[in-house]
Amino acid sequence: MSARDVIIEKNYINGEWTVGNGEKIAVINPSTEQPIGHFHETSADDVDRAVSAANAAFAGWSALTGAQRATYMRKITAAIRAHLDDLIVMQMANCGKPRAEAEADIVGSVDCIDYFATRAEELDARQQMPVDYDIPGYRSTTRMEPMGPVGFILPWNFPMKICSWKLGPALAAGCTVVIKPSEITPFTDTFWGKAAELAALPPGVLNVVNGRGAITGAALSSHPGLRKISFTGSTRTGKTIMKAAADDVKNIGLELGGKSPILVFEDADLDLAARLAAEGVFYNSGQCCNATGRLLVHESIKETLATKIEELCKAVVLGVPDAPNMTMGPLASKPQYDKVTGYQDIARQEGLNCRTGGGRAAQFNTGYFVEPTLYTDVPKSSRLWNEEIFGPVLCLRSFSSEAEAITEGNDTEYGLAATIVTEDETRAERVAAQLDAGHVYTNVSVAIPPETSWGGFKQSGIGRELGPWGLAGFLEVKTVTSRS
Ligand code: NAD
Repeated sequence: MSARDVIIEKNYINGEWTVGNGEKIAVINPSTEQPIGHFHETSADDVDRAVSAANAAFAGWSALTGAQRATYMRKITAAIRAHLDDLIVMQMANCGKPRAEAEADIVGSVDCIDYFATRAEELDARQQMPVDYDIPGYRSTTRMEPMGPVGFILPWNFPMKICSWKLGPALAAGCTVVIKPSEITPFTDTFWGKAAELAALPPGVLNVVNGRGAITGAALSSHPGLRKISFTGSTRTGKTIMKAAADDVKNIGLELGGKSPILVFEDADLDLAARLAAEGVFYNSGQCCNATGRLLVHESIKETLATKIEELCKAVVLGVPDAPNMTMGPLASKPQYDKVTGYQDIARQEGLNCRTGGGRAAQFNTGYFVEPTLYTDVPKSSRLWNEEIFGPVLCLRSFSSEAEAITEGNDTEYGLAATIVTEDETRAERVAAQLDAGHVYTNVSVAIPPETSWGGFKQSGIGRELGPWGLAGFLEVKTVTSRS
């Protein structure tokens, strides 16, 4: 039986597969614009059942040792590995990703859960930590306790992978969870329910509810039975969720949008700089929160670099996933396609200098394909320079000094990531220290190992995922002070 057969169209609540009682929603293959399945939306009543199940399961799950929870988590990753090929094919069909990118998502999810399984084992040794201070007659110890049942609200650009960044630390900490996948890409994230079933996770520890944001997402984020909402998505929705969580002072983790800069200095290796600039905005068809869509280049090398990037744009082979030699797929949905082509229209209205691309890919009659696009000498006032496009669109401006590059790099409401390209290590360190960004890359492609941190400054979010910071995001610290 394939992974698709066992999960399609379902919710996973309290260890059972059920069908939502709301509106029927089609799920579309963005390469063909044809439905590949559907689901029935989860109403507030069913969200309530999932939250109740997570609450009922919490006492048992949180009472296990970290090592016992780790054993379950490793069974979850074994279940995913056993269905790897099916999951990759589903990810390709639902997201339009090239096979290598779809595989990186699923394998990255497994690695992340395994990493947090090891952190769960270590957690046992961190209980009852003595606190070092000197007040006669007093002694204190701290312990780490799970927050409680938590909810995840997920985006469509990296299904499974972004969920694993939340699920790994939450399960390791001892929290029970309710997962709401994106309504655009529900299938691989729903497989977490199947993996939980195959791992014989106690009912209610992991629940999945499918539906749109305004119905199912809103019911989850405002539910008083959850202690935290961990959200990844747009800054606009993040603000709505923050308000919904305020009523019962829920914890929130927000991984939001970005408009990340790539700074290329005059001493840079220009082939490397061109490759990093292209990869930074074309991976996953540019639908990355950390896409380096703002290229700041020293004026002395601007023309040479622009020419190299233009060549790389022209070398991109658009195609359906698994087409021979294809390197970039379509955008993931019609709304995203309308948004990105809308920005290309704005560029024409603003009179931007388009070096290559600038429109839909005319060779395709169907599918949400957009040309890799490079605009140069983009004015600071341009909407394309300031707003998150979330597509394969690169905007270039030049600078004349390091100080100007840093000021312009930081001149945005976002602060998720940044890339620096220079052969001068001292300069790289100096500039990295001054950039408002949660993760700074120097002379390398974007990689996000589970041991590092992920999260944004400013309107890119609140909190950090991954690493020890990700685990801390699902733990409460309790100090016990007594007579010595
Ligand atoms: P989105 O905000 O439209 O939707 C994200 C999720 O929120 C979906 O599950 C949706 O159903 C739900 N939602 C929508 N309205 C809601 C509401 N009123 N109440 C509760 N839930 C609601 O974002 P998207 O288009 O799916 O994802 C793209 C955005 O995500 C981009 O801005 C991107 O930068 C950001 N993102 C950030 C990171 C990060 O790590 N910082 C990672 C990936 C994506």
